[in-house]
Amino acid sequence: MRLLLVEDEVGIATSLKRGLTADGFAVEVATDGKTGLWMASNIDFDIIVLDLMLPGLNGFSVCHEVRERGVWTPVLILTAKTGELDEIESLDSGADDFLTKPFSYPVLLARIRSLLRRGARERPTVLEVDGLRLDPATRSCWREDVPIALTPREFDLLEFLMRSGSRVVSKDEILEHVWNPEFEGSPNIVEVYVGYVRRKIDRPFGTETILTVPGSGYRLAESGR
Ligand code: CA
Repeated sequence: MRLLLVEDEVGIATSLKRGLTADGFAVEVATDGKTGLWMASNIDFDIIVLDLMLPGLNGFSVCHEVRERGVWTPVLILTAKTGELDEIESLDSGADDFLTKPFSYPVLLARIRSLLRRGARERPTVLEVDGLRLDPATRSCWREDVPIALTPREFDLLEFLMRSGSRVVSKDEILEHVWNPEFEGSPNIVEVYVGYVRRKIDRPFGTETILTVPGSGYRLAESGR
């Protein structure tokens, strides 16, 4: 099993490498975030053990960027900080597990083995309706092969509509899912944003993907595939 260890503390890196090698892993070490990112994106590893506090680029950024590049190797983040925020940030960044320092070597090994048993996480599916594709992992959008730049709100709106399929969704439902729950403005904001999205995904292509259902809301055109 090929393991990438990204750790800037030489003492820890050396002793972990020694232990993991003795346990049968082929270990490569990177001692800063940028090198770690390069290796994780260009070399095929079975698992990545990533320290959080790194020179150059921290562990969250490395993990996030690795996922953006479409690499789904399991990632275990090592953090010296304790607290719920780390857990949330680790999992948000696309990591599969995290371990707080100091940890014992047997615990680390058990976590690594458990992640290897689980295997690489499934790449989030690219949503597609009639040539319009939306990739929630990289937050990108294309029609045929033309990339479409969406603002975060436009992206969230389109993602929600695409996930709802041909079901009719009301403006209130859209507001609830796409806008902040505390949003107290007019539901007409939804209309405005649907207009923005149509102007980007439909108008230039002569397509009609988002249909208005008078008095009810919106639905997507049937995919036909
Ligand atoms: Ca460190």
